[in-house]
Amino acid sequence: MRYVSTRGEAPPLGFEDTLLAGLAADGGLYVPEAWPSLSPAEWRALRCLPYADLAARLLAPFVGEAFDRAALLRLCREAWQGFGHPAIAPLVQLDHRLFALELFHGPTLAFKDLALQLLGRMFDAVLARRGARITIVGATSGDTGSAAIEACRDRARIDIVILHPKGRTSAIQRRQMTTVLAPNVGNVAVEGTFDDCQDLVKAMFADRRFREEMRLAAVNSINWARVAAQIPYYAHAALALGAPDRAVAFAVPTGNFGNVLAAWAARRMGLPVHSLILGANRNDILARFISANDMSIRAVEPSLSPSMDIQVSSNFERLLFELLDRDAAATASVMARFRAEGRMPVPDAAWRRATALFRAAAVDDEATLAEIARLNRAGYLADPHTAIGVAAARAHMPADADIPVIVAATAHPAKFPDAVARATGRRPALPARLADLETLPEQYVVLPNDLAAVEGFVRRHALKEAA
Ligand SMILES: *Cc1c(COP(=O)(O)O)cnc(C)c1O
Repeated sequence: MRYVSTRGEAPPLGFEDTLLAGLAADGGLYVPEAWPSLSPAEWRALRCLPYADLAARLLAPFVGEAFDRAALLRLCREAWQGFGHPAIAPLVQLDHRLFALELFHGPTLAFKDLALQLLGRMFDAVLARRGARITIVGATSGDTGSAAIEACRDRARIDIVILHPKGRTSAIQRRQMTTVLAPNVGNVAVEGTFDDCQDLVKAMFADRRFREEMRLAAVNSINWARVAAQIPYYAHAALALGAPDRAVAFAVPTGNFGNVLAAWAARRMGLPVHSLILGANRNDILARFISANDMSIRAVEPSLSPSMDIQVSSNFERLLFELLDRDAAATASVMARFRAEGRMPVPDAAWRRATALFRAAAVDDEATLAEIARLNRAGYLADPHTAIGVAAARAHMPADADIPVIVAATAHPAKFPDAVARATGRRPALPARLADLETLPEQYVVLPNDLAAVEGFVRRHALKEAA
């Protein structure tokens, strides 16, 4: 399998190089040159497989020669074996036609673990083959740093340094990062804001000498392998509810468009998906796009679902490329105008194609709390992101009563205890396997908002590990 850039000006790469590259050299995103597709009989044959076996089967065409079948299966089994539920991504029935696909049983209680646990292992295997090391640096406002740290801890060829703004993350978010005492993990509390942290990371990448010396890398959500690694849970859920002999719909609380793009990919591979329902919070750029072809950037506003406080959904470019019949020049020109004008000029025909499949709802904080309360009365405790997915699903139930709607439950309620307590009066407890989080020793350094100081720390950290 080869991967091409959505903007058409970067060389096609195989899976390994796509994994390591992240963004394409022309600023575009890598997508498969051709989509693998399964017949109904082939889908049926996958119905009763354990999660890791199903994942290895579905990912095989994407990884191509990078991993043989046995190696891929081993990676998949290792990636998810530490999850807190034997089904990995269990389905919970909420009502007659509504199901929660629980993607929060991984080490950091959010769906990003499903992809990142596999990616960390893939990176390590590829780097070992090449005799290379990398240093991952990232900034977090609290939520994504821990998933990256858990994915990279104890990996032989990866060092990771995550910057967080000192005193500005919740205690549980900080502890999820700083109690990981693996020697290849470095945590830095920066005396500044999240934006300062992000600026420091950008500055490190822009410092070419430093970047090359440290072999800096990122595990951000534009990496194709992350999208691919999310396809199996959609397939697993749909097969459990009767696909390919019954169509399903998915509702996905969406920020960077990475999670829902995997559902789109499952459909592209032949899974019968009736509709894809996007849930947004008050940062509603995607909902405005679906309702009025208005993809225009506004200021990001904080909400109860912080992982979706985003205005530019970076993975949307991959869908745009498909909506434009894979015309890379057209994609590049739409993206250039988006960057210059803050408004994406999606041609009418492409927008109509999107609206034939996608629905969207913007759910504000008040409605989010109301949905958490409603679900709680029915016996289900949901986090704010999941509640947005459920509210969006309720707004767009397919008219055909035979089609179930599967909501991606993207975070454990204990990850957002304040919002859940506000809505229900109940403070959700951490799962037993994380209960000692509050007492474990922490390790992090405090540094000023200063590039030289942070680069010095990253260098010492990486050299210590390489020695
Ligand atoms: C990251 C995240 C999202 C958004 O996912 P995208 O792939 O960026 O659309 C939704 N919910 C939670 C809990 C998340 O952590």
